[in-house]
Amino acid sequence: MCVSRISHILAKAWNVVSLCRYAHVPVWVSSRWKHTNSQQYTAVIFDMGGVLIPSLATLTAEWELKNNLQPGWIWKTILSGESHVAWDRCMLGELTFEEFVLVISKEKQTSNIIKPYLEAMTRQMDYQIPAMREAIQCIRAEGLKTAVLTNNFWFKHQSFLPVEKVDFDVVIESCREGIRKPNPEIYKRCLERLKVQPTESIYLDDFGQNLKPAAQLGMITIKVGDITTAIQKLESLLRFPLHGYVHGTQTVHKHMDIPTDRLKEYLQTTLGLSSAEPLTLRQFSHGQSNPTYHIRSGDRQLVLRKKPPGKLLQSAHAVEREYSILGTSFYLMEYCQGRIFKDPTLPGLSAHQRTEIYSAMNHVLCRIHQVDVHAAGLEDYGKHGNYIERQVHTWTKQYRASETHNIPTMEQIIKWLPENLPTHEKTTIVHGDFRLDNLVFHPDKPEVLAILDWELSTLGDPISDVALSCLAHYLPPDFPILKGLNNCDLTELGIPSDLEYLTMYCDKMGINPVKNWNFYMAFSFFRVTAILQGVYKRSLQGQASSTKAETAGKLVESTAELSWMFAIREGFRKFKSIPTRNPNPPVRKYSTWNRQRSSATNFLSTLSLNNHSKHLISVPKGHLIISSEGLSPRVQELYHQLTMFMDKHIYPLERELTDHQRDENRWTPNPKMEKLKTEAKAKGLWNLFLPLKTDPEIKYGAGLTNLEYAHLCEVMGRSLHAPEAFNCSAPDTGNMEILLKYGTEAQKEQWLLPLLEGKIRSCFAMTEPQVASSDATNIEASIVEEGDSYILNGHKWWTSGAMDPRCKLCVFMGKTNPQAHRHRQQSMILVSMDTPGIKVVRPLSVYGMEDPPGGHGELLFENVRVSKENILLGPGQGFEIAQGRLGPGRIHHCMRLIGYADRALQLMKERVKTRVAFGRPLAEQGTIMADIANSRIEIEQARLLVLKAAQLMDTVSDKEAASEISMIKLVAPNMALHVIDRAIQAFGAAGLSGDYPLAQFFGWARALRLADGPDEVHRAVIAKLELKR
Ligand SMILES: Cc1cc2nc3c(=O)[nH]c(=O)nc-3n(C[C@H](O)[C@H](O)[C@H](O)COP(=O)(O)OP(=O)(O)OC[C@H]3O[C@@H](n4cnc5c(N)ncnc54)[C@H](O)[C@@H]3O)c2cc1C
Repeated sequence: MCVSRISHILAKAWNVVSLCRYAHVPVWVSSRWKHTNSQQYTAVIFDMGGVLIPSLATLTAEWELKNNLQPGWIWKTILSGESHVAWDRCMLGELTFEEFVLVISKEKQTSNIIKPYLEAMTRQMDYQIPAMREAIQCIRAEGLKTAVLTNNFWFKHQSFLPVEKVDFDVVIESCREGIRKPNPEIYKRCLERLKVQPTESIYLDDFGQNLKPAAQLGMITIKVGDITTAIQKLESLLRFPLHGYVHGTQTVHKHMDIPTDRLKEYLQTTLGLSSAEPLTLRQFSHGQSNPTYHIRSGDRQLVLRKKPPGKLLQSAHAVEREYSILGTSFYLMEYCQGRIFKDPTLPGLSAHQRTEIYSAMNHVLCRIHQVDVHAAGLEDYGKHGNYIERQVHTWTKQYRASETHNIPTMEQIIKWLPENLPTHEKTTIVHGDFRLDNLVFHPDKPEVLAILDWELSTLGDPISDVALSCLAHYLPPDFPILKGLNNCDLTELGIPSDLEYLTMYCDKMGINPVKNWNFYMAFSFFRVTAILQGVYKRSLQGQASSTKAETAGKLVESTAELSWMFAIREGFRKFKSIPTRNPNPPVRKYSTWNRQRSSATNFLSTLSLNNHSKHLISVPKGHLIISSEGLSPRVQELYHQLTMFMDKHIYPLERELTDHQRDENRWTPNPKMEKLKTEAKAKGLWNLFLPLKTDPEIKYGAGLTNLEYAHLCEVMGRSLHAPEAFNCSAPDTGNMEILLKYGTEAQKEQWLLPLLEGKIRSCFAMTEPQVASSDATNIEASIVEEGDSYILNGHKWWTSGAMDPRCKLCVFMGKTNPQAHRHRQQSMILVSMDTPGIKVVRPLSVYGMEDPPGGHGELLFENVRVSKENILLGPGQGFEIAQGRLGPGRIHHCMRLIGYADRALQLMKERVKTRVAFGRPLAEQGTIMADIANSRIEIEQARLLVLKAAQLMDTVSDKEAASEISMIKLVAPNMALHVIDRAIQAFGAAGLSGDYPLAQFFGWARALRLADGPDEVHRAVIAKLELKR
């Protein structure tokens, strides 16, 4: 039997997946017709009654006979007197048919006859003559236009049109137009709407009077009496058959003709077809590469698929067959009647039906991939393993063989694919061209009956088939060969997205999600590109089996672009999957000279290090360490521990900690935070902030320089919750430093130690609502001596941390001597928060954020009595302490702000790589790329300045670093605001929500343009110092 081995094998596979074939209806078709390109007609126009639907004249004659009426009596009666006018008005749409019947009923004595007649006629004419319908389908299959031109009426709220409207390009009805045949105007309108010349059209009517004006305009006319005769006349004019229509077929293309006699003889011998039955051939319009024919002989219907004629590319058309009956190899299949959906949007179906169709498609693909290759005897159906690699090689060769011009994108893909091949491949039967329009669905049910186009099937990687099924998702709806779904609202249509389709597949197959999906999509579009290039080249050589081939070939570049788009996405995915913390990072020992070497060495000599601390620390010798890799091994270890702690404990708990700050218990400490503190302390990640210079014997802190701490503090700044977990949060850090620098041993004992242990918390009360507190000399609160006590009175606000029930200490700033020099009037005094006379008025909020449990309190101090011993440093020293406090303590904020900004940028990058808008990831949008670049530049600039300020504080003095400290206090929050704002913008509305830390980062960064002293004050300091130089 001359059915090719491949189809035989596939039939076996097909049986394994046990899909049934569907019945068909035999229709006789003459074999005398050949497709001709010399068509002079481009449109056929049909009258309705007597042409498309039964003839009114015939039905009337029958009715008259049945009702014993004189022949012609009915219409003679209707067209007499007033009824004539009414009938005319009915045709012109001025009266409905129902109104016309009313007129007749009133008018005529005979209404008891006319009325039932009219009702019977509308009933009997309500169907389309099948032979004419088939003729129209044949005409349209050849690409000609069709129209209905009818004198018609309104009936039951619409026009009386019992024909399939999809069969016509144009419908002209007298009742809509307000003119009727034989008025030549109505014929002209029809031609105009068809956009054809009269001589290019054929007009069919059963009424000679209506044919005349058409003929006068130059249209070819056919008078329809007997329908069969009319169709034959039309056939002879059009020169192609008007019966034997098979959905999706047309007459055989001129250059695709095959020798019917030899084929007939062959089929008689091999399949035992009757010699008496004529053999008819039609060609499927579907399929670019291998022409496919519908064969009918008697009641047997077959499909023949063959290689195109002419010289072919090696192995591009694997329709392997040794027979040369048709000049090229071929194979035969049974014809399966059903629905083929060429438009992936599935017009005419409901959303639910669409979901079912795509689900059925997915299901049948799974069944193909589940075929037991061994049980089906298909072990040798293809090579095992490395399918994708071999495919890339094959299609690259194909592409090269048909290359007509250089496409740079394709060159990139050809280089990229072999470097990114999947590491694990399953081997199953693969279809090789699995797409919706290669499936024949049951006429009514969401069930696949047959799968077409198997010539690329082999053994291979099944995911390649899944990706091929999703090509349409990325092609535009007007893509000439395969209509696409790009930019369609899939949810509304009920069509799964490509990723949903993939998930459906993985679930059904019981396999893990496919991580490198983008690779498969890139590969699929690469393959399509290679195929289109072949089609294009053949079209240039005149071998393409479709007229669309040339257009398709020109689309090569657009599919190459799509392939590259997925390659880029895959690149991003891989990049993202690289662990963020490389355990062995490449060491970049960046350092730069800073100020004069002598300053640095001076600092070293001023340090009074004991042996223990000398051993522990390695003080920077004037080098600015600009990345963590440059830190000493001990600090690097701390840095490593800290980042691990952040990853393991802080980030995963962030959401919970934030939620606690919003619930009703927010003013009580969160036990989860207390647990974090215990763990951090146990790991030595505790009190890292205390500068070595203040604590040279490393009695209280971790012995880090400001520069070293800057690197660690930045990491803590990446989460708003982190600093507290490491006992490094404001305002405690500043207060601890004050106590360490200026406190007596007793004060240290009472307050510093519990603060260092994290047992209590503290606040700092300087700012007052009634005065401009950016100028500390304005402070009005009073500290009045009374015996061995001081009496405190004042109204304070923005006292951070005061709301916390653990807050036991307040560092209070007030005036002890308003008469003294303006910088000697103020003093600072330590006040226990449980001293009588302290009232918490309310918590303040920043953009609605209350920052519990510490908050920012408004407090009243009314006759608060405090022991004289609690004064810090001495009366009148408050301004000096304030200056000292605002130094290191406040540069910590700047270090953390670098962390805010860097985290915001990291979140932004992650978001824009995965979020797609207008057909490409946001990361590929130019403005987003510019935002990323600007953010990175600004972060790096600000970081260098923070590090420089920190290093100057270490190596020279806070006073000498004053300019840099002011600079960074100005630069850091402003930089962070820009970076965070860009990240928020890239996130869309989500960026403003509480779901991400961005909105909070933004709020606190903004607050820090005031909390650390207003920008203007810092500018003033910088300018003054600059002017002094
Ligand atoms: C979140 C947060 C936490 C805070 N925590 C504390 C705390 O714990 N303890 C505490 O005591 N205070 C705290 N503050 C208060 C903060 O220190 C003050 O708000 C800040 O010092 C400014 O004082 P002010 O609000 O009185 O503004 P004002 O002094 O009234 O200044 C208002 C504006 O005047 C302008 N201005 C001021 N000086 C100049 C100048 N030289 N040149 C040009 N323009 C100028 C600036 O635009 C400035 O923003 C906190 C503030 C915030 C927002």
